[in-house]
Amino acid sequence: MSSGKIVVCGGGGFIGGHLVADLLRQGHRDIRSVDIKPTAEWYQVSPKVENVQLDLQEKEACEKALAGAHTVYNLAADMGGMGFIENNRALCMLSVLINTHLCMAARQHGVQRFFYASSACVYAADKQTSPEVIALKESDAYPAMPEDGYGWEKLFSERMCRHYREDFGLTTRVARYHNVYGPHGTYDGGREKAPAAVCRKVIQAKLSGKHEIEIWGDGHQTRSFMYIDDCLKGTQAILASDIIEPLNLGSNELVTINGLVDIVEGIAGIKLKRSYNLKAPKGVNGRNSDNTLIQQRLGWAPGIKLQDGLEKTYKWIYDEIVKK
Ligand code: NAD
Repeated sequence: MSSGKIVVCGGGGFIGGHLVADLLRQGHRDIRSVDIKPTAEWYQVSPKVENVQLDLQEKEACEKALAGAHTVYNLAADMGGMGFIENNRALCMLSVLINTHLCMAARQHGVQRFFYASSACVYAADKQTSPEVIALKESDAYPAMPEDGYGWEKLFSERMCRHYREDFGLTTRVARYHNVYGPHGTYDGGREKAPAAVCRKVIQAKLSGKHEIEIWGDGHQTRSFMYIDDCLKGTQAILASDIIEPLNLGSNELVTINGLVDIVEGIAGIKLKRSYNLKAPKGVNGRNSDNTLIQQRLGWAPGIKLQDGLEKTYKWIYDEIVKK
């Protein structure tokens, strides 16, 4: 290990919180976790790391956050599920300030490795019009027509990482996450994503005895969902690797939204009457991760079964709701 700190930006969030916990489990101690939220609102807070509240859209905050750092994970972004990103495009694009100022500060502080969390939302919309998807491979991001707002920010920030690497020698690595889910994340309030939202709705139906569920879209749209443990493993492997181009990090277990509801109903042991809200934000019609490149380069790809990951996610959300 090099001397210096590991800095997790967005450490109060879902993936950042899990990453800090995982780094601690591996024996790392010199960790700084940074988020704009007060620690009381973080999903996971460890007293064993330095927890700092900073607005990383600010240049000076980024300089402070990366002081003494050798490794940086940038997981900070103003984001959420489709309900959030389709209605908050300017807010999503402002996250460009976070990655830009972090790259500048990383260069200034001589950071050795810099990770950027990009997204499958960088992929061109015209390649995702049918539920019968052809899995997206890395080259499908160009010619560019990503998700408006959020996807453009991700694509721009990917390129910022590339040019910092090419022009200034900063070692940057980029993963394109495809839908990550698991415990200790958002499950209500408007920023939640499909797996957590479906778990919450099924749990509420079970607890209330009102056996109905509203599904966004017609339920035929397809997706793949990666369990958090696979995300953590892939993120760290990509950062440690010599792979300079952005790499898909996602599951390739394709499921319809109806299929996702079937699984969660099975876990809950109930059957619900479904209604479909065709006016709700639903994103692209179909999306899957082509894992050829990650398999070739790392000899590994995410493989945790949706059923197994959902069981753990459902249990956590159930306990949270019952606790309230
Ligand atoms: P999250 O919203 O749980 O975590 C992001 C964290 O960033 C939040 O805690 C938020 O408070 C923090 N943040 C926002 N603005 C900030 C600022 N100005 N300064 C400091 N902190 C700030 O989201 P997540 O699911 O953990 O996602 C982490 C990263 O992975 C994000 O970049 C996201 O775009 C990317 N990503 C996630 C998914 C997914 O399915 N979860 C998919 C694709 C990409």
